[in-house]
Amino acid sequence: MTFQAPKGTFDWLPPRSEQVLAVREALVAPVRLAGYGYVETPVFEDTQLFARGVGESTDIVSKEMYTFPDKAGRSLTLRPEGTASVVRAVLQHNLHTGQLPVKVWYSGSQFRYERAQKGRYRHFWQVGAEALGSEDPALDAELIVLAAQGFASLGLTDVRLLVNSLGDKTCRPVYRAALQDFLRGLDLDDDTRARIEINPLRVLDDKRPEVQAQLDGAPLVVDHLCAACKAYHEEVRSLLTASGVAFEDDPRLVRGLDYYTRTTFEFVHGGLGSQSAIGGGGRYDGLSEMLGGPPLPSVGWALGVDRTFLAMEAEGLLPEAAPGRVQVYGVALGDDARRRMFHLVAELRRAGVSADMAFGGKGLKGAMKGADRSGARFALILGERDLAAEAAQVKDLTTAEQTEVPLARVVDVLKGKVQ
Ligand code: AMP
Repeated sequence: MTFQAPKGTFDWLPPRSEQVLAVREALVAPVRLAGYGYVETPVFEDTQLFARGVGESTDIVSKEMYTFPDKAGRSLTLRPEGTASVVRAVLQHNLHTGQLPVKVWYSGSQFRYERAQKGRYRHFWQVGAEALGSEDPALDAELIVLAAQGFASLGLTDVRLLVNSLGDKTCRPVYRAALQDFLRGLDLDDDTRARIEINPLRVLDDKRPEVQAQLDGAPLVVDHLCAACKAYHEEVRSLLTASGVAFEDDPRLVRGLDYYTRTTFEFVHGGLGSQSAIGGGGRYDGLSEMLGGPPLPSVGWALGVDRTFLAMEAEGLLPEAAPGRVQVYGVALGDDARRRMFHLVAELRRAGVSADMAFGGKGLKGAMKGADRSGARFALILGERDLAAEAAQVKDLTTAEQTEVPLARVVDVLKGKVQ
C-alpha cells in the first residue's frame, strides 16, 4: 500500500522547493531591513484564541479549523493564520510594556479546511509582519510599502494593490446598521440572510453573480467614516502616493477576518484566476482587547508564499533549469579510493565548497552519470592508480577538460576554481 499526501496538501520537492525558499527569503528581506524581529509561535494553539481572535462568525472559525482534543481533553487548533498567535505571544511575554511599536515577522504553515483548488490549499505557507502598539498612519504605510517591495524584488509586475478603510468603533457600527438595512431588503437565501445579522460586511465579499448584481447601490464604508478615520485614511493614502506605490481604492474590500479596523489592503495578481490574492492585511486596533489584553492598536499583513510562487510561474519568472545543487561531485573507484573520497568531500565542505559523491558502489560509468545529473561543475575522479600516485583527476564537466592535481592540493585548487 502506498500513501498519498492528504487532500488539499502537496509536497515541495527539489528543485522547486529551493526556489520557494528563495521566494520566502525575498518576501521577508524588506521587513528585516526595517527592524522587524523574527518570532516563531506554536503550530497549534488553544482553540479559543482563534474563536475569539479571528471571530466566531468568520468562515475560518465556523467551517475551516482543524480542531482536535489532546490526550488531556484540551481543545487545540492548528493555526489558520498568524496574527492571533503573535498578539497572544506579545501579551504573554509582556513585549508591549517595552518600546512600541513591537515589530515582528513570522513565517510558516497555516491550516484551513477549505475547498481545495489551484492556489487554495488546506496547508499553505505564509510570511507575515506585524507592528503592535502604535496608532500611526506611517506604520500602515510602511507595512504596505514593505510588502510591495517584496513582490517587486521578485520581478512581479502584474500586481494590483487595493486599499480601503473599515472605520473604527465609532463609525463602523453606524455603517454596519446602514448596510444591514440595505441588505435586509434584498432577495437572498437563508444562509446569507443569517450572515446579514452576524457579519454583514462579509456579504459584500460574496462572489456569486446573483448576489453581486444586487449590491450595486449598497452603502459604502468610505461614505460613513468619522472625521478621525477619514483623516487617518487620507494620510495613509498620501504616504503611499509619495512612496511611489500605486494603489486603487476599493470601497468593497472587506476581507475574511473579523478583527480589522481602519486600513485594509490586498495585493492581487492578474495571472492566478479566481484565487488571485497574494497577500493582504490591515489594522486591528481591537484585537488585543478581544484577547483580554490592554488596548494595543496594531497593523500587519500576511503574504501567501505558495500563491506568490504561482504568480511568478504565471509571469515566467522562475528560471528554467535549477542551478546545480553542488559544485563538486566525487567519483571514486575501489574501496580505498572511496574511503579517501569520503574524507576529501568532507574537507571540501569544510572549506566552503559544496560537494557530493557517488554512493552505492557504482562503477565509473554510473558514477560519471551521477556527476552529470548532479549539476556539479567539476567531477573529482579518484581511481586506484591515482591513489597510488597521490593524485586525482579534476574534470570540468562543461568543457570536458581534465587535469591531474596532487591530492594534497585538491581542496585548494577546487576552491580556487569555484570562486
Ligand atoms: P489571509 O490570512 O486570509 O488574509 O490570507 C493572506 C494570504 O495568504 C492570501 O492573500 C493568500 O495569498 C494566502 N492564502 C490564504 N488562504 C490560502 C489558502 N487556502 N491556500 C493558499 N494560500 C492562501
